[in-house]
Amino acid sequence: MPRGGYTGGGQESRESLVILRRGARTEKASRKGNRVTAARAIRTIFATVVLMLSVPIAAHASTFHELAQLLSKGLYDEAIEKCTQWLEAYPEANGRLRYLRGRAYHGIGWFGSAEEDLAPLGDFAPWPNWPPASEMVAKIAEMRRLAPEHVKEIKSGNRVLFRVYYDEDNAWTRALIAMLPDAWRKVGNFYKVDLDETAVFIFGDAARYNAFFRTWSGRFAKHWQWAGGESGVLIFCQRDPSGATLAKAGSDYFRGTALHEYSHLVCRRVLGHAPIPPWLSEGMASVCGALAAPQDIIQNDRDVLRIAAEGQWLPLEAMTDRDRFYANETSNLAYTQSFAMTRYLISQVGEAKVIQLLNLLASEANPDAAFKKALGMEQAQFYELWLHAPS
Ligand SMILES: [Zn+2]
Repeated sequence: MPRGGYTGGGQESRESLVILRRGARTEKASRKGNRVTAARAIRTIFATVVLMLSVPIAAHASTFHELAQLLSKGLYDEAIEKCTQWLEAYPEANGRLRYLRGRAYHGIGWFGSAEEDLAPLGDFAPWPNWPPASEMVAKIAEMRRLAPEHVKEIKSGNRVLFRVYYDEDNAWTRALIAMLPDAWRKVGNFYKVDLDETAVFIFGDAARYNAFFRTWSGRFAKHWQWAGGESGVLIFCQRDPSGATLAKAGSDYFRGTALHEYSHLVCRRVLGHAPIPPWLSEGMASVCGALAAPQDIIQNDRDVLRIAAEGQWLPLEAMTDRDRFYANETSNLAYTQSFAMTRYLISQVGEAKVIQLLNLLASEANPDAAFKKALGMEQAQFYELWLHAPS
């Protein structure tokens, strides 16, 4: 049932395009080997039974606690589903549930639905240290002011896979938009996840891109980055602050990056805020990027031979620590090495095990526990195996 959407301010055509569907479960990580999904399904059934049996007042406190936990873990799809169920059962708890669902919608980039839940709540906040609804509504209004003005939907049948906001109808933008169905199909197939209505923002110039990025994420981009993907949003900018276009439209780098960033988005959607070692996150993104840019595999093989001959591999500690991984002096090597390690991992255990590992990262206490459970060994053992494997 289409509802919601940005309201006010925009042009007519934009209004009608920015409708976001509500109440639909967007993440369908439902295929074989997806333990988290099975666990979630059991929890959902359990929650429904509890919902039917329990006394409303007693249930409220634990429900709000559970929903607040889901939000703090970044498990937005699950939070939206639960809030929607509870809203039907306990309309008297409308304010808090709408607030929580609005925040969860914001987390997956469904800003229109977020606004629809939050705007009627005025300055309401469910707990003293949470921001008032009006503050988030103002943020969405600011994002709308900064967002590119044109909108295009990328559909498969009746499903909207991407809603693209773009500044310029030029060859660069068109080439990027043309990559999205490929990204959805290939990356979705890799992770066994399919998502609806991912918001994509394609900016022409760096200044507005930076302002939008800051409003949306609450932080400054660390250094110039023309492409990014997080739990619900893909964001690109054609020109750097000097006005130069860094990624040539249609190049391997350009094509690979579209899938690379979508991989990060899908991965975050499964993990929420759960930690993932940077080498695995970047390695899987590079594997996905290579699905659109097969040359990357040949280049990685060449790099591996050269680095192995020079004996320059980074230690595991540099591959698991974000600061060391992304430091200027090591990041090139770290990316190359992640790609090689992840390709080796997949070649040894298969894609299904790697996806199982990803799901376990979301549910286990720490990465090593997830490695142990999925692969029967900790990261350090895997690192040694990879390091001593004949290349
Ligand atoms: Zn990346």
